Amino acid sequence: MARKIGSRYTANQILGRGSAGTVWLGEGPEGPVAVKLLREDLASDQELVGRFVQERTALLGLEHPNVVSVRDLVVDGNDLALVMDLVRGTDLRTRLDRDRRLSPEAAVAIVADIADGLAAAHAAGVVHRDVKPENVLLDMQGPLGPGGAHPALLTDFGVAKLIDSPRRTRATKIIGTPDYLAPEIVEGLPPRAAVDIYALATVLYELLAGFTPFGGGHPGAVLRRHVTETVAPLPGIPDELWQLLIQCLAKAPASRLRASELGARLRELLPLVAGMPPLDVDEPDAESAEDEAPVVAEEAAPAGERVRRRGAVPLVPGAKPADSNRDTHTSMRVPGPDELAGGARGTARVPRAAGAPRPGSARHRAVARRRRVALGAAAVALVAAAGVGTWLATSGDDADATPQDTNNSAPASP
Ligand code: ADP
Repeated sequence: MARKIGSRYTANQILGRGSAGTVWLGEGPEGPVAVKLLREDLASDQELVGRFVQERTALLGLEHPNVVSVRDLVVDGNDLALVMDLVRGTDLRTRLDRDRRLSPEAAVAIVADIADGLAAAHAAGVVHRDVKPENVLLDMQGPLGPGGAHPALLTDFGVAKLIDSPRRTRATKIIGTPDYLAPEIVEGLPPRAAVDIYALATVLYELLAGFTPFGGGHPGAVLRRHVTETVAPLPGIPDELWQLLIQCLAKAPASRLRASELGARLRELLPLVAGMPPLDVDEPDAESAEDEAPVVAEEAAPAGERVRRRGAVPLVPGAKPADSNRDTHTSMRVPGPDELAGGARGTARVPRAAGAPRPGSARHRAVARRRRVALGAAAVALVAAAGVGTWLATSGDDADATPQDTNNSAPASP
């Protein structure tokens, strides 16, 4: 089952399969390695191979204890392989699938590690662009840290960018999960370092809550929530940690912390969360989330108080925001409920059709609300889709730049 990869490496055994290819336990001149063999359709794409080779300088240059280093890039016949440090352990998604949520102490320790890794990447001018639990590896052979967490390492630098070329994305319609996409990406702005901070804060929320702040339901709805909704509170976590979390989930990229600050602040908070059990919150229902904000489990909320999980941000110009997290730079204007429902001042009144609900009746209100939500979601999904399209087109442009600028060529500062 062993196979040669170039002249220096042997791939011996499959460690895991991902979207871009298969990861093998391999052997190189300096000992065991992990070899990611890219999918055949990717490896046979001449344009992709060209970009892969162009980007090797940036990919090879990243060295940090919380980054899975790329040791070599091999282009050999039909094989295209990334040779990486071997991490003996599991990825964070597998851990989440098993435990659903982590203790705040373990969650903070893992995210602090990844923030440190990102700080090194950003300092080198590299934006990861695909921070998510699947791309965090836990080194089970490393020392146990706070909350029993193993050291965490970020992997897959630059790979998302290589794979997500506009042409390929259009052809296959694969754009990955939208749960971790920063609002500025949805709006079509170029991804800078702050998108990694937003994604990492989303991961922290998910580790604590067991679900992402804006996930669930149709991808268009998820994209809309990134731009328009506030984050629902997580009862039971210290206020300092909550403030840090919402600062890094701010709509405006400039309001988020830098990776190095985030890592340092999280480590300062470790004593505060030491020994805390995992939180006890119910996951919102994706269907009803579109219509009405679900509530936090009553036992987790203060006596008798039903807490709205997601605070909808008023979209009507001039309306007061629901909370200070709405520090968005967005200039996107979404039609108000009246415009969407066709009932704005000056609109001709249409007689009620036979069988149609009576205006003001409960059924009428329910139908109108569903229509408003559907129209609102459609309008925003359209804008969001246009934004993502622009982003992908932009990232394609990046790839044509000179090698020094290529890998995640956006400046590292937010
Ligand atoms: P993709 O990015 O193509 O989706 P991944 O990078 O997520 O693929 O890799 C798939 C699986 O391979 C991971 O879940 C993990 O179990 C394993 N893996 C990836 N990189 C390494 C590594 N450096 N060391 C050990 N195992 C790894």
